[in-house]
Amino acid sequence: MSSSQQPHLVVFTGAGISAESGIQTFRAEDGLWADYRIEDVATPDAWEHDPETVLHFYDQRRNQIRYAKPNAAHNALANLEKNGFQVSIITQNIDDLHERAGSTDVLHLHGEILKARSSVDSRMLYPLPKGGIRMGDLCDKGSQLRPDVVWFGEAVPRYSEACEIASTADLLLVVGTSLAVMPAAMLVDLVPQHVERIVIDPAAESLGRSDIIRLAMPAGEGVPMLTQHWLRKGHLWVPETLYPHERLN
Ligand code: NAD
Repeated sequence: MSSSQQPHLVVFTGAGISAESGIQTFRAEDGLWADYRIEDVATPDAWEHDPETVLHFYDQRRNQIRYAKPNAAHNALANLEKNGFQVSIITQNIDDLHERAGSTDVLHLHGEILKARSSVDSRMLYPLPKGGIRMGDLCDKGSQLRPDVVWFGEAVPRYSEACEIASTADLLLVVGTSLAVMPAAMLVDLVPQHVERIVIDPAAESLGRSDIIRLAMPAGEGVPMLTQHWLRKGHLWVPETLYPHERLN
């Protein structure tokens, strides 16, 4: 158990938790990469050679996110916290749907699309409550602003913080991630050895992880199902019989 009295639920989320809010994932057949090439919009090289296209891509994403609403999965996690559970969320998502649902302990591993940041000093952040970033928008040090998003090939500045959080988990819940993006996906293996891990993802079976409890269902169904169960019990509990999964050893 973590240092505080209350068992610590660590939740690791990916694009799939926001899919039912209408935000496209990356790797689905109709996902974002079906329309864009990664290297054209989400790499330091793209930013160097064609910043207008990069800014346009993130403007579109930002507008989509502003109109989206938290779904049953985001709400269920926030509700668990409201009811006194210790819930830390580590998200790969750049949207703000966990916060808008009411979760207060949220670490964005890959940045936040509703912030701009200096292209010379990553600590200089600027909220974008409306509008986007234009060429010529400068930070206080005079350099062009860029989206506060970690691009492919860049370091993940908050990774060690996320590892610290994972190391204090009493239960790990993984929701809606293909576990394809490193180093984020390695977090699943950084919880203490005795800690149970549950994955909720319609494609959970294809993860090929026989050491993890896999719930092949959408987040909007699976997350409320689990949190209701914990709220009824008053604690985090993983009954083998509850899950329509087969644990292969
Ligand atoms: P991914 O696209 O690689 O994987 C998405 C996963 O979600 C898949 O495993 C898919 O089966 C699952 N999924 C689809 N619908 C679901 C649902 N209704 N419920 C639960 N799961 C569902 O995304 P990823 O693993 O997060 O990694 C890719 C990167 O994409 C991340 O770095 C993230 O920053 C970025 N991203 C973020 C957003 C966002 O902020 N909402 C959207 C797209 C991509």
